[in-house]
Amino acid sequence: MTPRMWALVSFGVLVVALVVVAALTVPWHRAPAPRADQVAALGQLPAEQVARARRFHAELRPGSYAGMALSLLVALVLGLTPIGARLVELAGRPFGDHWLARAVLGGMLVVLAGELLTLPLAAWRHTIVVRYGISIQSWGGWGADLLKSFAVGAVLGGLALAGFFAVTHAAPRWWWAFGAAGAAGLVVLLSFVLPVVVEPIFNKFTAMPDGPLRTELIALAAADGVPVRDVLVADASRRTRAVNAYVSGLGPTRRIVVYDTLLTEATPEEVVSVTAHELGHAKDGDVLTGTLLGALGAALAVIALYLLGSWAGLLRLAGVDSIGEPRAIGLLLAVAAVAGLLSGPGQAFVSRRIEARADQHSLALTGDPATFEAMQRRLGTLNLSDPDPPTWEFLMFASHPSTVQRMAAARAYARGER
Ligand SMILES: [Zn+2]
Repeated sequence: MTPRMWALVSFGVLVVALVVVAALTVPWHRAPAPRADQVAALGQLPAEQVARARRFHAELRPGSYAGMALSLLVALVLGLTPIGARLVELAGRPFGDHWLARAVLGGMLVVLAGELLTLPLAAWRHTIVVRYGISIQSWGGWGADLLKSFAVGAVLGGLALAGFFAVTHAAPRWWWAFGAAGAAGLVVLLSFVLPVVVEPIFNKFTAMPDGPLRTELIALAAADGVPVRDVLVADASRRTRAVNAYVSGLGPTRRIVVYDTLLTEATPEEVVSVTAHELGHAKDGDVLTGTLLGALGAALAVIALYLLGSWAGLLRLAGVDSIGEPRAIGLLLAVAAVAGLLSGPGQAFVSRRIEARADQHSLALTGDPATFEAMQRRLGTLNLSDPDPPTWEFLMFASHPSTVQRMAAARAYARGER
């Protein structure tokens, strides 16, 4: 068999593996959140607050969509015309056109071109979130965060590109196999190290101070059978008034993080309700599920790139001889942008199902649907969420059930509907 045949077979096997893992780990059954309860919950929210949240999102929408459209357009122009290849050549020229310089510096130049073009739209969105009091960041703080994420992206992206093109360079016929294994391994590695290496670049994490709340949360985790070494508090109040909590990491790096804003804005019972939701993610291994699906997706993406690489018309558009050469970085980014757009709704759907399951876990663990509902109302109010967003936008982008869906799920739970 030729390498190409092996690649096709591996692609098929990985697709089956992805389908099996998704079938086994995604909670396809969703607990009821009847529309009648949603409408009733919406009617009980203060009308002025709902109107303000909708104005906020209406103001953000043009900048958000223009940003997405521009990013896609830039990726397509850089990838489907020879402009991307020229930029990569330019970056490698001072280094004797060495492939490594082209891979790392060329990659940075191509990404930076896209980032700079969309920067004004990001700045516009920042003025809106500041005006509505969600962000309290000055331009200095905003710029510092931006530079930090560029730096993190440059290091991680640079390493990934250097590794990828080292493999295509060393194994021109079999790079897809090493690349797929490497990409999957990288996703797993990042799940372990991001919480301890990257997250601290943006926030300070401290153990929740001793007190009745900490004691209660640790006891809640113990009662739930989820070993939690500590609950960490992030100093989110430096940049936002929004509240949040999340679980990240795997094994020894697993942690539950609550924003300090949550501790000051919500009642202790509500913090317990949120933490119970996060314990649900830990107990159901949702980070592991995400990592596994991500690793399979990354491996599939590398093999798909290899297979796309035999499409002569595509290579001709990009002005490259092979998809495995650094000059094809623009083309890689264009393919990634299109793949991201197409897979986004599917990813959002899986995320919403996993979040709804964690909500059910919180309701079952606390047995307190009234506090759960109060917490959802507070989350929505503080974060200026549209409690009942437009359907198509919800289907395209929403990672969580809507506020009214979560309130309705609590009402159904209280009636014994599971
Ligand atoms: Zn969650």
